Amino acid sequence: MAFDPSPPASIQNLLHRACHTWGLSRLDAELLLAMALGKPRSWLYAWPEHIPGPAIQETFIQLTQQRAAGKPLAYLTGHKEFYGLDLQLSPDALIPRPDTETLVDTAIEIIDRHKARRILDLGTGSGAIALAIKSQCPACDVWASDVSSQALGVARNNAKRLGLSVHFCQGCWFDAIPMNCGPFDLIVSNPPYIAPDDGHLEALSHEPRHALVAHNHGLADLFEIIDQTPKYLADGGFVWLEHGHTQGAAVRERFHERGYQAIESRHDLAGLERITGARLYP
Ligand code: GLN
Repeated sequence: MAFDPSPPASIQNLLHRACHTWGLSRLDAELLLAMALGKPRSWLYAWPEHIPGPAIQETFIQLTQQRAAGKPLAYLTGHKEFYGLDLQLSPDALIPRPDTETLVDTAIEIIDRHKARRILDLGTGSGAIALAIKSQCPACDVWASDVSSQALGVARNNAKRLGLSVHFCQGCWFDAIPMNCGPFDLIVSNPPYIAPDDGHLEALSHEPRHALVAHNHGLADLFEIIDQTPKYLADGGFVWLEHGHTQGAAVRERFHERGYQAIESRHDLAGLERITGARLYP
């Protein structure tokens, strides 16, 4: 469908077209237009009759088309808010989900209640979990790993911009962790947990597949972390993992088989079983 570029459209006409011709939500259209203009969203309400110049019209049209084709807003704006932090994003890292804030809530609760100090976030992606923990609990020594050097670049950049000090290391799960930096009091992770044949992957095609998909019905990485964690956890230490809402029983069972105690699952904001944790005693 051709997007008629002439006559140049006003702010209100551009928004109208983005919503009615291209099917964007009003919020997405406003955020993209504000970005193309380099202004805050409120500016659009102050100047609805303003006619942006041709370069801005063109930029907005391109952003609108990409959004209409399914590219997530966070990848178009390059930003996503997570736990009150403004994170920069690129398609190298998974977009942080509100569900994952449940994992951060739980981590902070454990840090406060049990004086956990050495914390590890495995598969940190944009750095969301590690940075949220460090921002809330500055006394903690936070480590974060990822297999992707591009994702780690995004995470390091976020840490720098936010002035948060996290130790980043590259590698697959615990391969990233030098032996001398453990043991950890708390290990958290939001690993890939979607089964390769899950229909809901189609809607996530813009995000890195290796950050979403795991073999064995989506359980392979969860199980690997559960199996490897004992080598890196302090006595009585905690591990909490995010998982799919139907995977709680399988994750609890694996923790049980590997000798963990105090195994417990919690629900996310949508009321779905989303995270499971356990402790390990010698
Ligand atoms: N929660 C994400 C989703 O289902 C998946 C994240 C993940 O695999 N860790 O969209």
